[in-house]
Amino acid sequence: MNSRYSIEQRDEQLLNSQASITYTLDFGRAAEHIMAVTLHISNIITDTVSCILPSWIPGSYKIRDMVSDLSDVRAFAQGKELSAQWVAKDEFFIQTQGTNEITVTYLVYANTKTPRNSHINRWHAFVMPVCSLLYVEGRMNEIHHVKFLYNQQEWKECSTSLSPVFPTNDNTLYGALNYDILADSIIEIGNHVVKTFEVLGAKHELALVSNAVIDADWIVKKLEKIVSTEATMFGNELPYDRYVFFLLCSPGIYGGLEHARSSVNAVDPSAFSSETETARVLELLCHEFFHTWNIKRIRPRELGPFNYRTENYTGLLWLAEGLTSYYDTLFMYRCGFFTQQKYLDVLAKDNLGALDKVPGRFSLSLHDSSFLAWVKLYAMSPDMRNRFPSYYLKGGVFFWLLDLYIIIQSNGVHRLDDGVRGLWKQYQQNPEIGVTEEDIINIISQETKVDVSKVVKDWVYGKEELPYEEIFSQFGLVYSKKPIAITRENDELFSPKKLLGITVSDKNGTVVVDTVTDGTPARKAGIAVDDCIIAINSKHTLNVNSFEAILTSLPVGELIEITAVCDGRLYTTSLTLEIPFEYTLTISEQLTENQKAYQSLWLL
Ligand SMILES: [Zn+2]
Repeated sequence: MNSRYSIEQRDEQLLNSQASITYTLDFGRAAEHIMAVTLHISNIITDTVSCILPSWIPGSYKIRDMVSDLSDVRAFAQGKELSAQWVAKDEFFIQTQGTNEITVTYLVYANTKTPRNSHINRWHAFVMPVCSLLYVEGRMNEIHHVKFLYNQQEWKECSTSLSPVFPTNDNTLYGALNYDILADSIIEIGNHVVKTFEVLGAKHELALVSNAVIDADWIVKKLEKIVSTEATMFGNELPYDRYVFFLLCSPGIYGGLEHARSSVNAVDPSAFSSETETARVLELLCHEFFHTWNIKRIRPRELGPFNYRTENYTGLLWLAEGLTSYYDTLFMYRCGFFTQQKYLDVLAKDNLGALDKVPGRFSLSLHDSSFLAWVKLYAMSPDMRNRFPSYYLKGGVFFWLLDLYIIIQSNGVHRLDDGVRGLWKQYQQNPEIGVTEEDIINIISQETKVDVSKVVKDWVYGKEELPYEEIFSQFGLVYSKKPIAITRENDELFSPKKLLGITVSDKNGTVVVDTVTDGTPARKAGIAVDDCIIAINSKHTLNVNSFEAILTSLPVGELIEITAVCDGRLYTTSLTLEIPFEYTLTISEQLTENQKAYQSLWLL
């Protein structure tokens, strides 16, 4: 474990630097999804050296044992192989035999296409150093260099937040001030589209990796807006000299991962096909970019310095992801990507409405949802919705209500932004240490002049419904949850997921139940996960399409009969299809003067 934690780096700090730890990444076998790594370590003063691969990826709280992708690990000194062995699943232990310089060689198999895994093929290399580069125990705080070996005639672009060591005569040697920065610095080499732009004096780069043709200039315009708008909140300053937006477009992927000087954003090419889908991409970009401040820098104390080998428990992921989720939507509005009404609609439907469909919010507190992320959010069981509220979703609603609460209590003078700026100031004063729950409460209370200790404790540790009705009525917001008005044209009405309370998929030629939500008709009728739905009202459900078609043809309110199989035996049950809810949020037509002030501060 590293004793110090610093993820700040400026390119100029690495120029012409020297390093005693250098990795060479050879992409000669890229077509086999293989990267050959040579790790050269000098200035050794000990008899033994431990090389360790992290077991989890910062920002993604799950033990992944990435070492399973490493092979042929060997150590050499002066051309001779050294005595070395694995002493733990992630630790390679080398006897140095008196030498002060050794070389460790190994292969990495990299063929998982997500925003958090290395993936290498004949066309390109996307490298997540934390998944692939061993660290040298006890020497994490030294400068680390990385050299790339590849055919520059075939692969013409290299994008990385690592800093160039020799920018003029060697564009393949890069560096990081320490291992934490190296682990956090993504590398993409290939023929991706590169666009550069400048905001507030900082260099930015879009690295667009896509087989589909996507309008990179349009994305750059949106990124310029996102960067400048989010920076406004933090005093029109950016906490880096250079930042890379990696945008991976590939079928079937979605998600992102934040880094200190970059972010990885992964979307399906169809994400640019409609306004709704495009909004999801922009929201993802807003989200990952907001992490530049929140989580990469403002962070729970347990998340830096941390242990790369084991779980690092924190009850504060509601700060990391809840605050970011609230602000990603708010920045969609502030950037002008959402109109005011669209913003209210999204809050109603995708935030409060989405949380309303999670019965698990009464089972687990926000604190415990965060603390158990390692075995809950990142190890989803089909029953999760009924037992577990995500700290993204509930955390986002929590901060929304906290923002409104602060505005009300301060009579429209302060808002959550002030508290977040206070947290940012705290980071700037003491970047090596993260914050505790008490720090968060104290800083927000101090900056907004509103004592938030009781509501934060109540909402973070409580399992009751959050008091949104009370807050909305004081604020002049009208929230409504009511059954969707029935019209034949309303496609949404016929979504079987909403009518029944189950999700299904085709498996082995039958329609299999994947999830069942508590309190829905399916649950009341005893339908369970893994049951196979055979027929509805004696009509055979051949596959998901025919299942949906049969459901669509049935009116709500009528008793229907479902024939299913549980564990090899047939059963029949009946239920009444219900009308799904719709969620809306509007501004009251009769606002008091106070409420007008609240609204104008909130929707500034
Ligand atoms: Zn996030």
